[in-house]
Amino acid sequence: MGKRKAPKVIKKGKRKRKPKKSSERWKKYKIEGNIAKPTAKFCPRCGRGVFLAESKNRWFCGRCHYTEFKSKEEREKEQTKEKEKKVKK
Ligand SMILES: [Zn+2]
Repeated sequence: MGKRKAPKVIKKGKRKRKPKKSSERWKKYKIEGNIAKPTAKFCPRCGRGVFLAESKNRWFCGRCHYTEFKSKEEREKEQTKEKEKKVKK
């Protein structure tokens, strides 16, 4: 007798929702005294107020899809930073 494959069960209805990440804009500001200083890059096309999302080797604007690639120097800087963090831990 051949083995019969069980029919695939397709679940309908409830789907697990992925928790949406908030933009966490507040994290991109450093508060010094009463002044909030932005620590992230702004989009050159959209102007102030629109931050670029940072990924490993580039910045990305979620609004106009502007992408800026990081230079080697910047990447190396970050790598050394990460190394320092690891040493501290
Ligand atoms: Zn933009």
